[in-house]
Amino acid sequence: MKTLREYYAEMGLSESQVLTLNQELSIEGLAGLTDFVHEKRLRSLNQAKGDAWGHGPDMDGESIASEVQKSHMNMSMWKRTLSPVYKVKGFTIGAVRPGKEAAIDYKNINHYKHCTCHSCKSGKRVMGVNNPHDMFPYVAKKDVLISVRRRYLKSGKVKVTPWTFEHLFSLIEKAYSSYEKLLALELLGSIMVRIAFMLDHEEDEEGILRLHLPKIATEEMVGRLPKLGEGKWAIPIEAVIYFLDILGYNEDIKVDVCGYRNLVREYARGTKNQDNGRTNTLLTISHMLAAVLHRRPIGEFAYGLHRGMGMNAMSKGQIPPAYPLLYSNLEDWLDREITELGWSPQI
Ligand SMILES: [Zn+2]
Repeated sequence: MKTLREYYAEMGLSESQVLTLNQELSIEGLAGLTDFVHEKRLRSLNQAKGDAWGHGPDMDGESIASEVQKSHMNMSMWKRTLSPVYKVKGFTIGAVRPGKEAAIDYKNINHYKHCTCHSCKSGKRVMGVNNPHDMFPYVAKKDVLISVRRRYLKSGKVKVTPWTFEHLFSLIEKAYSSYEKLLALELLGSIMVRIAFMLDHEEDEEGILRLHLPKIATEEMVGRLPKLGEGKWAIPIEAVIYFLDILGYNEDIKVDVCGYRNLVREYARGTKNQDNGRTNTLLTISHMLAAVLHRRPIGEFAYGLHRGMGMNAMSKGQIPPAYPLLYSNLEDWLDREITELGWSPQI
């Protein structure tokens, strides 16, 4: 049997490195985080809905889809408005608008059954509308769209599909190619938990909230796993993280429009701050990583994903045992056996 201390030593970390990473990543008061970060998430939602990232011209669904299909190798041809947000190692990560749900002819948005907007409350549930703030998160290199899967058909045509959860999951899963990559994936999962709660977002000089990746953990992760994907389409792991951050902004927009207005749910007895949107989506990614690492049961993850229609966020109680560097009292855990944390004994 192996203790957590022995596991980190096997990963090539000295005791002081473990403590330094823990100091940078640890989360105080995880249980109360939803309320604690609510105001910041609300600011980020309003930033994303506002004009900092242009909404672009009115377009129909077909013109939006054809831009991706036809001009994926040259985004300078796009009519839509590109708002670059992050740059790393020659890659640009940002938001394009309008996203497909913002097309003028898009009609698939239905307000939730529990929505309490004026119309839904009065018995006319809002159905068949669009999401005017929807955006298309992207990664590009020069003008080439990178955040897509390209499939080369026998006919010589290329079928281009924007990244889905499935693509992202397989990019990450394929990265688990050797024992040494374990720690890189653990750091990625730990960083994603922090981004889910916007713990590393700060306002820049223009008042725009931006993600500043935790330095030491990112450096350690990149040293072990610099890129995801293969060959000429490989991308820096930081670019994938920034992409997920932009996705997080858009996830908040999606739930806001459907009835978790301002990231709260209204109950008869008052309103309650919600994790829906960014937090749940990014905690689903962390959950998937924890399953890949054999720290969460794969069956439980898969079944929950099905039940949650594509969402299965880790609960706050599940987070630190899977990502111990987030513990605010790591030293109490270092001499425990990893099986006590729910990890598979083979690790
Ligand atoms: Zn409504």
